[in-house]
Amino acid sequence: MNKATGWMILCALAACAPRITQLDIQKVSNDPAFSVLVFSKTTGFRHSSIPDGIAMIQQLGADHDFAIDATEDPSLFTDDYLANYQVVVFLSTTGTILDPDQKSAFERYVQNGGGFVGIHSATDTEYDWAWYGQLVGTFFRTHPAIQPATVVIEDPKHPSTAALPALWMRTDEWYSFQTNPRGSVHVLAVMDETSYIGGDMGDHPISWCHEFDGGRAWYTALGHTEESYSEPLYQQHVLGGIMTAAGAVAANCSVSGTKPCTR
Ligand SMILES: [Zn+2]
Repeated sequence: MNKATGWMILCALAACAPRITQLDIQKVSNDPAFSVLVFSKTTGFRHSSIPDGIAMIQQLGADHDFAIDATEDPSLFTDDYLANYQVVVFLSTTGTILDPDQKSAFERYVQNGGGFVGIHSATDTEYDWAWYGQLVGTFFRTHPAIQPATVVIEDPKHPSTAALPALWMRTDEWYSFQTNPRGSVHVLAVMDETSYIGGDMGDHPISWCHEFDGGRAWYTALGHTEESYSEPLYQQHVLGGIMTAAGAVAANCSVSGTKPCTR
């Protein structure tokens, strides 16, 4: 082998070898565990807390190893684009936000095992889309003035409620719903209607999860105020919802038709 042939072989080997650079190694080790799309389009009431919510989820992602994209562009709701994400968050969305093709793409995303997280007015969204009503659990009906109240944790084992006190006292806008979702979802927390003025449901679920149409859904009605998104306990609540909707952390979201077993 002369010198020229030897260099040719070396160059050929180098071309075939995987190009693992320091940058690639760095990138692999920083790969997020999963990706979350935060969607906050509104065509009705617009909550001033939306930027606080996006910032909170971005910080949760930085701290807990998941990637965040935030958008209000419904044209991104296609099969190809949604396939990039393990969780889609409807953050205080309101009104009609997707056209029929976009709705169909989102249905297929869930049917393919996608995760959904609904926050606050995600139930004040898409009233005429029956499939979405089942996914999110029910629709908003009314709320009294913002005031302190007590949230009663019904399932303290779920990752979204495990960090919360059994009786969680805080200030928010407390939703009542068109129907009680109990019977089709796993109830995580209910309102103590004696703790505030204007509760009118009796049995009053306020956060829940369930497996629906091939995917995983988690919802909290909490999160009207800007201050909510700075509360450490609220952050833990939403973090557990995102992690479980992603399937990154296991959770029991089997339908709770009656009060849960408390062994
Ligand atoms: Zn609100």
